[in-house]
Amino acid sequence: MTRLLLFDIDGTLLLSGGAGTRALNRTFEELFGVEGAFAGIPVAGRTDPIILDDALERAGIRADADGRARFLARYCQHFEREILLPGPRKGLMPGVRRLLDRLQHTPGVVCALLTGNVARAARIKLEHFEVRRYFACGAYGDDAPRRDDLVPIAVERARRIGIDVDSPGAAVVIGDTPLDLQCARAAGARAVCVATGSFSTEELRRAGADAVLPDLADPECFLAAVG
Ligand SMILES: [Mg+2]
Repeated sequence: MTRLLLFDIDGTLLLSGGAGTRALNRTFEELFGVEGAFAGIPVAGRTDPIILDDALERAGIRADADGRARFLARYCQHFEREILLPGPRKGLMPGVRRLLDRLQHTPGVVCALLTGNVARAARIKLEHFEVRRYFACGAYGDDAPRRDDLVPIAVERARRIGIDVDSPGAAVVIGDTPLDLQCARAAGARAVCVATGSFSTEELRRAGADAVLPDLADPECFLAAVG
């Protein structure tokens, strides 16, 4: 049986140096004429559709499902350019490429994604940092706005491409926020947290993670943590 490792992207695998926020603000300004619409809106661990809903509500703008989909499509176009620019802490997190190389040759584990990013934004990020090939499949912010619904979607998608994962309980969520571990709990999956995002090891431990690592730099510690 396979252990499905569901990696969060932002703060866990990589940081895009503020490119996401710049692209969101730029899109909002272009479509609705409001500047800095995402300033102060929390993003860590949340899905893109929910982050957008918060900004729309704060600006007093109503948008139907089509309007929101158009927004996110335009956001991805801006994001494709923004990610080319330098930004604070931009890059893969420590040890990520080495760990992914190692996992590729580790029997019984398969790497996939579980992220609040819409699928296209996730693809842009992973391609930019040349790590997309490590991930068999994924569940994304445009599959369900609630992160808690994403583990079963990722497991089902893995099964459909022939990965032998028998239940969400055989998945491990790897993320950098209490919301990552909450979505693991909701599905009966294991939660391993890393302190490379906006929460400290202490905060993640207190939130109830099964294991907390400072980063992904030590493959042996990682393998022990995923069980
Ligand atoms: Mg994250």
